[in-house]
Amino acid sequence: GRELDAAFFARWMTASADAVAREADRLTELDSAIGDADHGGNMRRGFEAVRGELAEEVPGTPGAVLMTAGRKLVSTVGGASGPLYGTLLRRTGKALGSAERVSGEDLADALRTGIDAVAQLGGAAAGDKTMLDALFPAVAALADSGGEDFGAARDAAERGAEETVPMQARKGRASYLGERSIGHRDPGATSAALLVAALAEADGA
Ligand code: ADP
Ligand code: MG
Ligand code: MG
Repeated sequence: GRELDAAFFARWMTASADAVAREADRLTELDSAIGDADHGGNMRRGFEAVRGELAEEVPGTPGAVLMTAGRKLVSTVGGASGPLYGTLLRRTGKALGSAERVSGEDLADALRTGIDAVAQLGGAAAGDKTMLDALFPAVAALADSGGEDFGAARDAAERGAEETVPMQARKGRASYLGERSIGHRDPGATSAALLVAALAEADGA
């Protein structure tokens, strides 16, 4: 099994910042169809701030890296995605505790806690056409493999994001469109799949 240290989690956050910067225009384009065309900018601003913070100093434990990153997202992203991703990382980090190294199974358990906190904060469930539609299948795939198969988590997140296309949005701005939200891929599910892909990338999968 893996022993994931603070440097691994810093790599994950940096790979996330890279992916978000690379795909920012696409995220904004998706958000222009069913939202207010700021998701790429929101995510890029937040993750560049995370990158800057971690470039100054990497906290000593996996949990502290994620809590620091989550706090940064909350303080730099004004949109719905700031508090939601901030909660995901802060609560996942908190669940990892103060261990210097964690296993893949520890990470799967902690992510489950973080994702449940996002669902509680935003009041969304599976099928509501949100970031959760990528995050739920990703953590299920990771847990199913005993925390071993990061590539399966990446693929499940990507499939989950694609499956938001025929859904009608029931939470967030896109829900204001009612049935007109059908036929578009959710921007937040798309960015969530990027973050899970970055996790697999940090792992070398
Ligand atoms: P805003 O909608 O405030 O402009 P963003 O555009 O940055 O914020 O983020 C929009 C994304 O946030 C949506 O595509 C969706 O995935 C996610 N989202 C919005 N509301 C919720 C919610 N209540 N629960 C989970 N995710 C949500
Ligand atoms: Mg938006
Ligand atoms: Mg907005």
